[in-house]
Amino acid sequence: MSEYQMIIDGQKVDTDAHFPVLNPATEEVIAQCPRATEQDLNRAVDAARAAFPAWSARPDAERAEMVHAIGAALEAHAGELAGLLVREQGKPLGGFAGLGAQFELGGTVAWCHATADLELPVEVIQDNDEARIEVHRKPLGVVGSITPWNYPLLIAIWHTMPALRSGNTVVIKPSEFTPLTTLRAAEIINDILPPGVFNIVTGDGSLGAAMTNHPGINKIVFTGSTPTGKKIMQGASGNLKRLTLELGGNDAAIVLPDVDVAAVAPKIFATALINNGQTCAALKRLYVHEDIYDELCQALADIAGSVKTGPGDGEVDFGPVQNKPQFDKVCAIAEEARASGARILTGGQPLPGPGYFFPVTIVADIDENTRLVREEPFGPILPVLKYTDVEDALRRANDSPNGLGGSVWSGDLDRAAALASRLECGTAWVNNHAMIQPDAPFGGVKESGFGVEFGRYGLEEYTSIQTLQISKA
Ligand code: NDP
Repeated sequence: MSEYQMIIDGQKVDTDAHFPVLNPATEEVIAQCPRATEQDLNRAVDAARAAFPAWSARPDAERAEMVHAIGAALEAHAGELAGLLVREQGKPLGGFAGLGAQFELGGTVAWCHATADLELPVEVIQDNDEARIEVHRKPLGVVGSITPWNYPLLIAIWHTMPALRSGNTVVIKPSEFTPLTTLRAAEIINDILPPGVFNIVTGDGSLGAAMTNHPGINKIVFTGSTPTGKKIMQGASGNLKRLTLELGGNDAAIVLPDVDVAAVAPKIFATALINNGQTCAALKRLYVHEDIYDELCQALADIAGSVKTGPGDGEVDFGPVQNKPQFDKVCAIAEEARASGARILTGGQPLPGPGYFFPVTIVADIDENTRLVREEPFGPILPVLKYTDVEDALRRANDSPNGLGGSVWSGDLDRAAALASRLECGTAWVNNHAMIQPDAPFGGVKESGFGVEFGRYGLEEYTSIQTLQISKA
């Protein structure tokens, strides 16, 4: 029997079959996790459907209060949850620039409270002698959430709190690589909510596929890779599920020659290496003007040389890559960059095991057609590319199937903003990157997905519009 159990209709549920969960810093098995069958999924969906009428009919203020209560309860368990994150995800407790597990917990709590405070008021389009026309936002039904392994808890909260807040019920499936923190959080959440409102099932990608195809689920919210996002879109067609797809990014940043290199280098480093580079909206391609290219490369290499990678329970800046397939991908991308003749300024080779450790790697003078530039490495490796003409830099930045984020760095804010608005992406930053907050919509264009999360725009994604037209004449 697993020490971790699924929760269906408010009850803890174990399964006959289990799968192991590893600590990526040691490669040791730290837990056995329930492997749900299709029957388990059916029960979870049935429970969510049964709970929907009462949950959606509750006064709005009560639902807001419960989402606040979830934020408070998760905060009360922050130490325990952050420790679990370190063990299963690998990130350090504090980490570089304080962006480790404690940061994820802080974000989790903040997002709960901010989401609780959101409102979707009735909009009056017309009110005269002829008619009153109102636009109402109604919940969709059962929301299926499929989450990845980079921010297991924070993304689970991003998906599910707006779903609950707007009156939907939930079935969540965390990544098989990082299910434990979400399972524990689901227990805490279920202490607050009525049975069946928040259900959790665990398994591998085939369970995610079964959710996608399930006729009892009305919407899928997914964060993960573009290929899986495409499969989900196909599977969702059966009952025309609503979708929010937050897929990978290969974000470009353009640095103009007027920047203060010493001032921007630490900020660029932090936004590229956040969560060991395993962040959808991290800075992943750095285009630098030739006048400051060598100076910025050197400044980034100096920072990279000063940071420490190691097990997340120690005093380190960065932990391991989260899982073996991802580690192998990072190693292969680095090797291909080296073989292409690029200049490896720091790192470049995996660290001795056990554990999936790869040092921070800064790569200069790299060909645009290498995997490191064309694909998101989703690991601690950053290519720095040179440009002469900013129009050429913009063209190269936009020459990507992805379009999650992008940034321009300059002392001239107006010029930078004008250039940033020409980046083909869902969020464009000036003198920053990867900065998100609960009241600003966040989402991708092109193959980075569609739909947005956060704020009122994000909340609306969990609803459909009902127009109420009252004739008076
Ligand atoms: P996936 O997109 O495959 O996994 C994300 C989630 O989708 C997991 O819960 C996974 O389950 C689930 N899943 C897998 N297959 C299916 C399916 N057919 N139908 C429904 N759900 C499914 O990402 P990977 O873990 O394979 O990572 C690969 C790449 O994805 C990374 O290199 C990175 O580029 C990108 N990525 C992007 C993230 C982001 O934040 N946008 C986050 C993570 C990865 P399970 O893990 O249990 O198989």
